[in-house]
Amino acid sequence: MISSSFIFTLRSGRSILLGKAFVRTYASAPSPHALVYLEHRGGQLDSGSLSALTAATQLGGPVTGLVVGSQEEVPKVVEKAKLLKGLTTLLHSSSPSYAQLLPEIISPLFRKLLTSSPYTHVVSAHSSSAKSLLPRVAAQLDVPALSDVTSVEHDGSTNTTTFTRPIYAGNAVATVRAPSSLSLKFFTVRATAFDAAPEDSSASVEMKAVDPVDTSSPTEHVSTSLTKSSRPELSTAPRVVSGGRALKNAETFEKTIYPLADLLGAAVGASRAAVDAGYCDNSLQVGQTGKVVAPELYMAIGISGAIQHLAGMKDSKLIVAVNKASAAYISAMVMPLKLGPLQDGDAPIFQVADVGLVADLYETVPQIIEKMSQ
Ligand SMILES: Cc1cc2nc3c(=O)[nH]c(=O)nc-3n(C[C@H](O)[C@H](O)[C@H](O)COP(=O)(O)OP(=O)(O)OC[C@H]3O[C@@H](n4cnc5c(N)ncnc54)[C@H](O)[C@@H]3O)c2cc1C
Repeated sequence: MISSSFIFTLRSGRSILLGKAFVRTYASAPSPHALVYLEHRGGQLDSGSLSALTAATQLGGPVTGLVVGSQEEVPKVVEKAKLLKGLTTLLHSSSPSYAQLLPEIISPLFRKLLTSSPYTHVVSAHSSSAKSLLPRVAAQLDVPALSDVTSVEHDGSTNTTTFTRPIYAGNAVATVRAPSSLSLKFFTVRATAFDAAPEDSSASVEMKAVDPVDTSSPTEHVSTSLTKSSRPELSTAPRVVSGGRALKNAETFEKTIYPLADLLGAAVGASRAAVDAGYCDNSLQVGQTGKVVAPELYMAIGISGAIQHLAGMKDSKLIVAVNKASAAYISAMVMPLKLGPLQDGDAPIFQVADVGLVADLYETVPQIIEKMSQ
């Protein structure tokens, strides 16, 4: 055992040593072999896990997938997962106690798989459940974990892996290098930064059943409350129409944003100000503490463009902003440091918008809807 660490290199070229960990080391480090946690819901693989698989294949070694769940769910998911391009082996483990996938219940299975194992990297989507599971297992194994990775590169000659990840709400990008002496690396992947792994009908994947690990936990699953919507899912929708504080209340939010979204076949999003004021459900929040989206089209209606909001949408391909940029509505968080009064077009959203309309949304949105309906 030796002491090792993650080394952060910022864009400035400065290196920071972040956290030390006592890790297993090998005389000569093994070549990469990734274990990808494949999450699923209702018998379907989560799209974020397909992106995690793509990231894992970029390490250049074999990739093993892992499906965990109830006896009813696992066979359905395995049927789909075995067709995924890039998978070498597919492990699956089912048990009635895995029905809710509580991190406390499934982490012993991960520990068993990772003890004296060939795996060098453990990869998952940056999902709520994986964010709870991976750091837990990493801490139990006394190795560091990285979150929200946007690129990964493995150098076979030195056996080091280099990652990038956004920091400071996406205003800086940290380059993180895991040295070869670190034999096991955990990381979660930002889904919008990697394409989803496609299916390959000629894929030949070795399948292995893994016995579940019985464990008792003081945590008990009580109920799951899911928001049901016939609209596209916000995280993966190719078009998103988002509303901000300027929508005034839940009724105007619904009357203004939803018809435009329906016309475009778009998902509905919102700023945190809109969510906090109760205009819509918090599952619609886009940003640093909400969802990260990168659709083909993102329409920001009455949203100022605070850095925390931009962190969740600035990678969108085409950004359209409608904002009258009234100083009265610019929150203290985003007020630019200026000596004079704010002018039309001053809202920070215009700095990232491809198409910016300095206009009153209550006049403009009905006009857009009318033109598009003709
Ligand atoms: C730790 C932390 C995390 C955060 N996480 C998030 C996050 O995940 N997502 C997020 O969104 N925010 C987040 N925030 C909050 C963020 O700082 C902003 O307060 C928030 O994004 C502002 O929302 P907004 O743009 O809707 O409101 P405002 O900043 O108040 O902007 C409203 C905009 O509407 C325009 N407007 C007003 N009337 C009209 C009209 N009639 N027509 C057209 N335009 C009009 C105004 O010019 C203004 O630009 C976070 C803050 C913190 C501190």
